[in-house]
This record gives sequence, structure tokens and C-alpha cells, in this order.
Amino acid sequence: MRLPSEPDVLVIGAGAAGIAAARAVLAAGRSVLVLEARDRPGGRVLTDHRLGLPFDHGAAWLHNAEDNPLVALAGSLGMALADSDALRREFSFVGDRPATPAEQADYGEAWDRATAALAARAAQPGDCSLAEALPQGGAWDATVSAWQADIISAAPPGRISLADFTANALDGGNRMVEDGLGTLLARLAEGLPIRLSAPVTRLDWGGRQAVAEGVFGTIRAGAVIATLPTSLIAAETIRFDPPLPAEVLQAAADLPLGSVAKVGFRGATALGLPPFSSIDRQVAPGEPLVAISARPFGRDLLACHVGGDIAAALEAEGDAALEAFMRAEVALRFGARAAAALHFDPIVTAWQRDPWARGVYSYARVGRAGARQILAAPMAGGRLCLAGEACHTRLAGTVAGAWYAGEAAAAAALAALG
Ligand SMILES: Cc1cc2nc3c(=O)[nH]c(=O)nc-3n(C[C@H](O)[C@H](O)[C@H](O)COP(=O)(O)OP(=O)(O)OC[C@H]3O[C@@H](n4cnc5c(N)ncnc54)[C@H](O)[C@@H]3O)c2cc1C
Repeated sequence: MRLPSEPDVLVIGAGAAGIAAARAVLAAGRSVLVLEARDRPGGRVLTDHRLGLPFDHGAAWLHNAEDNPLVALAGSLGMALADSDALRREFSFVGDRPATPAEQADYGEAWDRATAALAARAAQPGDCSLAEALPQGGAWDATVSAWQADIISAAPPGRISLADFTANALDGGNRMVEDGLGTLLARLAEGLPIRLSAPVTRLDWGGRQAVAEGVFGTIRAGAVIATLPTSLIAAETIRFDPPLPAEVLQAAADLPLGSVAKVGFRGATALGLPPFSSIDRQVAPGEPLVAISARPFGRDLLACHVGGDIAAALEAEGDAALEAFMRAEVALRFGARAAAALHFDPIVTAWQRDPWARGVYSYARVGRAGARQILAAPMAGGRLCLAGEACHTRLAGTVAGAWYAGEAAAAAALAALG
């Protein structure tokens, strides 16, 4: 495909936001070029087939299915989705044994208490941390907290803004893509003018035309949409000239990316679990929670997740440490023989070490929920827009949020072009 050398709109990054922005610019009849640092599109969404089945390193669920543009897009491509909520079978452990029905009922009540406590505190003036708002002391409170903070928000509860957490509407349905969410994004990127292995190192946005520089030389464009994760904006991995306004850099710093590490094993069938199983365990305060998702679509896959600081620490220790940690959790719940039945050579994710991500998705620091609007505000009359999951207030941290933010940035850039 011939790539435009002087596009109307230059998009930096071919993740969900960049793909959505590029499609919107093309749909409006204007030219676009996407410069992507990696050798593949998709960004934090990647399906890996090394296990002989699809395994998503990053995003795996289409959240908020009722208002998620990727649900309809998957349908238009004839890609099969599963309603993973309807199909999910939940199992909770207390130590090395399944929870009793009474304990299970207690667990349900702990979730209800937490939901009510968060809503009650959020209705009061002033922000606070999730830790301050969540109930503590009950048998399951630390487990609910670990789910809400470390697993879902990728950070410890003491660092997460309650206002931002409750603004996020992740209470809708969930879908899984049979061929993998990364496969869906790769299909949506097909045919777009994307130049791979083309990291932008400098962006001059002071003149009538913006000028991007990198190994590709220089590209001039009428408007620019930059979709870098906040980790990279805050670290100023692209030299913006003039520099980004101080409040924008501060907003990126106030929306850091958290940590989630995943290990995908084959050998799940030996555990005797039904398809779409979700298995957790009661944890004590401070104890890490491993959330296990087993046999999606009836496959022989066990995906083990851990989030927050322990995920970052284990990832820094290396793949062997993460694998051993997950095998020990499987052994605790299902016995040493079941853990030994898991195949060697699992897939171990490494988002923190990934130079083009440096984390998984954004959370807002306490008191800084407003940072998302600051980040999303078009600059230079729409000729420079930031986009990405961190720019969406209602679906932050998700593929759908990134998609909508990419479309919004495209609308602002197109309006600036006139
Ligand atoms: C482990 C994990 C689990 C997740 N689970 C879910 C889930 O189940 N459901 C869900 O909805 N979301 C989930 N997410 C979040 C979701 O993946 C992200 O919110 C979304 O993909 C972000 O898209 P984006 O376009 O904003 O950013 P990215 O996907 O990060 O895209 C930005 C792109 O910019 C590129 N780039 C960076 N610097 C440069 C440069 N200098 N020049 C050119 N290109 C550059 C990057 O390589 C990248 O491709 C998960 C993420 C992870 C990592």
C-alpha cells in the first residue's frame, strides 16, 4: 500500500485509539498516516497462538458490551463472541478447599456491602482512596478489595481515586472474542495506512503544519493525534516542540499505568473444570489475589492473573518467578499433581518491561479524577490531540474507552482542518 507522505492527519500509535482515529479520518474522506513504534498494530491488545490456541496478552474482555463499539464491529466481520457472564462458573476457595455454601453466601454479601459503601462515600463531597471507602475486617473484605483494586484497577486500593473509579461504568455485560481480542483489532487495522517500526522521537507542532521526526525521516501533517500511553507522555519519550503544557504533563503523571501480570498455561483440562470457569481464593489483607480464568470456549487454557505492586515485582524478577508463583497458587487450590499437569513453556506477559507500554492501563491518583478531561482537551485548536484509554472518563482503562477517545480526537482534528 502507498502511504501518504504528507497526510491531512498523522496518528501516532496503532493501538485501539489510533486504529479508531485512522478509520474515522478515512471515513471523512481525508488522508491519514499512522506511525507505529512496534512491528505490529494493536498496542496493548495482542493475541498469541504459541500455545496452539488464542491467548490474549493484554485485553481479553469487551466490557460494557451494551455500549462497546467493538461488539458490533466484531459482528460485522463475522467474528464469534461469547457472553462470558452468562457462561461463567464461579469457584472460590478458602485455603486449599472450596468455600462452603455459607462462606459463599458471606462472600456475596461482602460484595454487596462493598458496592453500597463505595456508592455512599462517592455521593459525599471530596475524593478519597478506594482503601478509605471499602469495608475492612470481614472475612472476605480483603478479597473484594483485591479484586476491585489490584486485579481490576491494576493498583493497590490506597493509591486509587474513588471518584475516578466510580465514574467508570464497567458494570455492563462482558464478551469474549473466540479468535482473541487481539485478532479482532488486527482485523480492524487491516488496510489502514500504517507504517510499522516507526517510533516518533520528536514532534514540532508550533507551525501551520506539524512535523514528526524519527527513523522514517520527517512527516508533515495538518493535524496530529498522539495515542501514547500516559506512562510515555509523562516520561516525555517524544520530544514535543513546543513542550506540552505543564498541566497536560501533570495530568499524564496523575494517570499512571498500573500492573497486571498474566501466565497462560496449557493443561487446564486435567483440573476437571467446566468451560468459562473463574476461580479465586479468600485472601488476608495484604495477601496477593490470583484470579484464574479457565477453559474459555472449552479450551485447554488456564489464564492466571495477579495485579498491583506484586505483579510489578514478580515481573521484574523474571518469567521464572511469575510462573513459579502461579504454579504454587494452582497447587494450593487443586493439589500438586494438578499443578504438575500444567504444561511447561507457558506464556508469561511482561507489560511493565514493554518499552511501548510500561504498564497495563491507567488509574487516577486520589484527588486527580479530573486529569482525564485535561488530557483529552484538544490543543492548538484541534491540530494536536491526545487520545487513548486514559482520555475517556466513563470507560477509562478499556479498549472501548480508547476507541471512543480515538474517534473524538479524529472529530476534533477534522474540525480543525475545516
Ligand atoms: C494485561 C492487560 C489486560 C487488559 N484487560 C482488558 C480487558 O479485558 N478489557 C479491556 O477493555 N481492556 C483491557 N486492557 C486495557 C486495554 O488493553 C487498553 O486500555 C487499550 O488497549 C489501550 O489502547 P490505546 O490505543 O489507548 O493504547 P495502546 O494500545 O498502548 O496504543 C498506543 C500505541 O502507541 C504506540 N507508540 C508508543 N510510543 C510511540 C512512538 N513514540 N511512536 C509511535 N508509536 C508509539 C505503542 O506501540 C502502541 O501501539 C488490558 C490491558 C492489559 C495490558
